[in-house]
Amino acid sequence: MFDVAIVGLGCAGYTAAIYSARYKLDTLIVGETEGGMGITAAEVGNWPGEIDIKGPDLMEKFKAHAVSFDNVTPKVSRIDKIEKNREGFKLTYQNGESDEAKTVIFATGSDKRHLGIPGEDEFSGKGVTYCATCDAFFYKGKDVAVLGGGDSAVEGAAIAAQVANKVYLIHRRSEFRAEPFWVDKVNEKDNIEFVLDTNVTEVIGDQVVIGVKLDKEFNGSDEIAVDGVFIEIGSIPSTQLAEKLGCEVDEQKHLKVGADMATSVKGVFAAGDVSNGSNYFAQFATAAGEGAVAGNGVFNYLQEEGK
Ligand SMILES: Cc1cc2nc3c(=O)[nH]c(=O)nc-3n(C[C@H](O)[C@H](O)[C@H](O)COP(=O)(O)OP(=O)(O)OC[C@H]3O[C@@H](n4cnc5c(N)ncnc54)[C@H](O)[C@@H]3O)c2cc1C
Repeated sequence: MFDVAIVGLGCAGYTAAIYSARYKLDTLIVGETEGGMGITAAEVGNWPGEIDIKGPDLMEKFKAHAVSFDNVTPKVSRIDKIEKNREGFKLTYQNGESDEAKTVIFATGSDKRHLGIPGEDEFSGKGVTYCATCDAFFYKGKDVAVLGGGDSAVEGAAIAAQVANKVYLIHRRSEFRAEPFWVDKVNEKDNIEFVLDTNVTEVIGDQVVIGVKLDKEFNGSDEIAVDGVFIEIGSIPSTQLAEKLGCEVDEQKHLKVGADMATSVKGVFAAGDVSNGSNYFAQFATAAGEGAVAGNGVFNYLQEEGK
């Protein structure tokens, strides 16, 4: 029986593990993707102490720090079920094996939001993807569309423009919501064309993607020919496991937490993009901060409960 099971191998999970390890808690940290969403960040310029670092390099440092403690057991697996039992919680892995822990920290991040338009599912993996910074490399010399107007879309367009022939940044509003740093970057690129106040209504293809259909004309046509479509329209918190345990979510489907990152279920905590903490500001610094608080919250809880 572990003192704490941390679900998620991202920024929040690794930080929670560092704190719980230093509180001498027997710590399990398990997740499906090592490094989490952080590995998709091309350039990170706001992690204190690093003026400029690539996301995968930053997450490698987090991991190395977390697993450097003897009392941290790392595992890479999807978790299919978490149930309450008499002593605490039972976590069941994809392969049917299980572990038990007195407490759980959900640091499960979020999943990419889908548009729900015709052709999206049909051409998923055949030109439609949900991570421009991860997949742009495959579109060297080609024309691509990036859909969205937030940080991921604007950063994705800037990265894609380094390899693609042409990038159409298609956004339903007239202004981007992204960090000014990335907006400046896309403005500097000659091969990015903005298609604003416009919705994509269909992904068109023939075995693979050949273009997108728009709800209004752009350069005299309601279609743009592209080889790749990167859908970057935000994400939905990964709360399925926590909700099945009875954890409350808010209107935006984030796990509700208190100041100590405790959820509505006793012994269950949450940190990072999955929680409603930090004013919904989903960043490395806030995920790490919440992970630290959750580690402390678990320590205090176990002491108070005499566990
Ligand atoms: C393209 C891009 C660029 C970004 N750039 C920046 C930046 O420059 N600066 C900045 O501060 N932030 C940036 N961010 C945001 C930042 O990456 C996130 O806020 C942060 O990584 C969130 O960390 P997290 O630990 O909460 O979740 P995640 O990193 O998403 O980790 C979630 C973990 O939970 C695991 N998981 C989920 N469900 C299960 C399950 N059922 N079983 C097992 N494991 C599960 C996942 O596999 C993963 O390991 C960027 C994000 C993107 C997409």
